[in-house]
Amino acid sequence: MRQIAIYGKGGIGKSTTTQNLTAALATMGNKILLVGCDPKADSTRMLLGGLNQKTVLDTLRSEGDEGVHLETVVQPGFGNIKCVESGGPEPGVGCAGRGIITSIGLLENLGAYTDDLDYVFYDVLGDVVCGGFAMPIREGKAKEIYIVASGELMAIYAANNICKGLSKFAKGGARLGGIICNSRNVDGERELLEAFAKKLGSQLIHFVPRDNIVQRAEINRKTVIDFDPESNQAKEYLTLANNVQNNTKLVVPTPLPMEELEAMMVEFGIVEL
Ligand code: ADP
Ligand code: SF4
Ligand code: MG
Repeated sequence: MRQIAIYGKGGIGKSTTTQNLTAALATMGNKILLVGCDPKADSTRMLLGGLNQKTVLDTLRSEGDEGVHLETVVQPGFGNIKCVESGGPEPGVGCAGRGIITSIGLLENLGAYTDDLDYVFYDVLGDVVCGGFAMPIREGKAKEIYIVASGELMAIYAANNICKGLSKFAKGGARLGGIICNSRNVDGERELLEAFAKKLGSQLIHFVPRDNIVQRAEINRKTVIDFDPESNQAKEYLTLANNVQNNTKLVVPTPLPMEELEAMMVEFGIVEL
């Protein structure tokens, strides 16, 4: 069982990419559990045809410990992917970190981590300063990490910060599998992300183009893999899935000092001197 966590700046496309990636892996015959670890609880929506899934924490709040059953919090989605949303705190109350821990512990007790699973994916909220950030790694759950980024300054800045966070958990076995570029059509984006990944000691695992079919699929409450499996974008997600499936390059990332990161952004014309 490979346990994979997906990180990246908020809004960069973690949930979109994760759902399309898991859908692609499912069509390749894999059995998957997907745990949404974002209080927004929108990590599994397109796999469930738009259904708003009841989160583990909401169920706990309304039913109490005894009332939480596997069937209530785990919904089968596209390709029989088992979908879970951990949920989060009520706004202003905190604390997402505890929420994810509670969810993972509960899923474990209820027997959600079955031996037949090929993958468990965690779609994790982006904020590095939040204690929730490291939970799947800190708990020794996810050991393989992918970061979604683009050629925009803030996305790279966030990815570098995430690597700083990750390197702190290297002792527990956490390794970076690569950077996924979710394109924003920035000039020289692929080259920039290849160079950035290399400086981290890692690799660009795939360059996912920006394509309106993602929105069209979303309006139909589907992943692109489900909505139009013959489309170019579906093929891109399948390539990403193949690259992840065959990936053996797992490293402790070496985040860049700020000056080096800024020099790289100048070199690629993202920032002017
Ligand atoms: P995150 O989970 O990182 O907060 P989302 O996956 O919710 O981000 O993505 C934000 C929005 O970006 C989505 O509503 C989606 O429509 C759009 N999006 C993501 N990836 C692509 C892409 N490759 N092409 C076009 N639109 C995309
Ligand atoms: Fe909880 Fe801290 Fe994250 Fe707030 S910032 S949700 S208190 S872990
Ligand atoms: Mg998300």
